[in-house]
Amino acid sequence: MRKSVQPKLLSIRDEREVLSLRDLSARVGSDPLLVQASNGNTSIKLDGILWIKASGKWLAHATQEGMFLPLELAEVKESIQKNTEIVPRFAQKHGLRPSIETPMHAILRHRVVIHVHSINALAWAIRLDGPDQLRAHLTGLHWQWIPYATSGIPLAREIEKAVASAPETDVLMLGNHGLVVCGQDCQGAEKLLREVEQRLAMAIFLGSAMPLFPPAVVLSKFTERLCGTDRTPPFVAVERSGVMLNERMSSSERATLIGLVQVTQRTEESARLRYLNEVEVTDVVSKGAHGRKEVIVQMANSPADVKKLDEQRAPSAGHFFAGAGSC
Ligand SMILES: [Zn+2]
Repeated sequence: MRKSVQPKLLSIRDEREVLSLRDLSARVGSDPLLVQASNGNTSIKLDGILWIKASGKWLAHATQEGMFLPLELAEVKESIQKNTEIVPRFAQKHGLRPSIETPMHAILRHRVVIHVHSINALAWAIRLDGPDQLRAHLTGLHWQWIPYATSGIPLAREIEKAVASAPETDVLMLGNHGLVVCGQDCQGAEKLLREVEQRLAMAIFLGSAMPLFPPAVVLSKFTERLCGTDRTPPFVAVERSGVMLNERMSSSERATLIGLVQVTQRTEESARLRYLNEVEVTDVVSKGAHGRKEVIVQMANSPADVKKLDEQRAPSAGHFFAGAGSC
């Protein structure tokens, strides 16, 4: 039998739901404390079809351009089971590819799923004591902590395991990654997102803002230090001085860096952080093979101790936040 190339026509009610998702996505995507550049993704399940944000698209533009792909939910689940690539079977305009987090959206039973790299959530998600600290702040909510796992099928499997015995779970704190909230409709999911954000934000701002000093490195030293690097990096942290931005820095790199600054401003100097290991870092970087350049955020052993350029060239345990734009 020949496979259909178009999903079934949406009922008026479902069409309204997709419009609500677009509005919600634009609102969430326009808040730099929730989403930076093309990270974050939203979805809705309607009549066996999973409508999911396309990879690389900015949620902030959700009402201005088409970015939601229809996928057969049953087929996505089959791909997860068989560990095979999710291939959209419906004809796609502009070659849209489904978000790398599609498996996570598919395995969650709620109709609406919102995933964000919320700054407030990240300020907790990078801490070793994150799960313990959050217990008090998220009390009364159906939430779970998911230890860091590679985006895509590995993360979806971890979540599936965690929610198997607690299907009421509708808030997931993703270690070193971000936040997921779910709801039966857009309104419910957004309301829950706002509540979680409020609870996380009330609990932070413990430390003072990271001081920013004017750049204080002479040009000759600067170029000397760059020898051996493949290309001029998007930004350079100068020890005890500040951060210098490359004028050719992309808007994605800039948005991700701003997100990092926001996270560090919410992290006490004494907080013990959980860093991504080399394998995890390599894995996030390799996601660039999906066609877009990834932005990895790296910092030193304490947020105030900005890492030297040399160490940036050979990153090891310095990454604490998978801030890749791969969603
Ligand atoms: Zn993500």
